[in-house]
Amino acid sequence: MGHGFTEKLVFLWDCILGLIYCGDEKCVICKRDVYDDENICEVCKKDIKICRTGFKIEKNNCQFDCYSSSYYSGVMMELIIKLKYKSSFRSGDVIASYMKDTICSNNIFFDVLTYVPMTEKSFKNRGYNQGEYLAKILGKYFKKPVVHCLTKTTDTMDQIGLSREERWNNMYGSFKVCDVHHIKNKSILLVDDVITTGATVFCCSFELLKNGAKKVNVLTGAKSKV
Ligand SMILES: [Zn+2]
Repeated sequence: MGHGFTEKLVFLWDCILGLIYCGDEKCVICKRDVYDDENICEVCKKDIKICRTGFKIEKNNCQFDCYSSSYYSGVMMELIIKLKYKSSFRSGDVIASYMKDTICSNNIFFDVLTYVPMTEKSFKNRGYNQGEYLAKILGKYFKKPVVHCLTKTTDTMDQIGLSREERWNNMYGSFKVCDVHHIKNKSILLVDDVITTGATVFCCSFELLKNGAKKVNVLTGAKSKV
């Protein structure tokens, strides 16, 4: 089954969810009433700690510019958990709106967006890729294409309990480029929900660069402490 078909199904599912949740005027976190089409209330917004400056992820003399919209704590942590494990696409919309702001305030330039892939097995279990969902919202907003150009070939072990070095080693070789055509000489924005050690996004970025991308910047909804 081609990825295109799965993408269409996910898109259709998003549309159905969008219709179901249309008019739900409660904060996605605390259930307070919110105005119009807001997904989060002013009180919960205040809990989100904005991350204003970019940083670099570096390994073996290769580095990438990285941006995170906020720190992974409190409300933002809840939003990410809700998007990732409870199919809360309204939470995803909130995260994406912070990511939009990060792109604008840091003048991040890109030709195309892509996202950290999941293995076929994980994708089937969850039914959607949270990074892809965020990338699609951003793509729509900035009128840039979202390309599926990476695959995750091996299931990496659970990262919890591993040292920083073990996490990096664990990731190498697990991501492969599956579409060179769409990345050749392009500035790519790689999207993910959270960055921890940076091993995952580094390996994806490295693969993209190795396969002809001009530049890769990374954007995540949140930044977690190692
Ligand atoms: Zn709230």
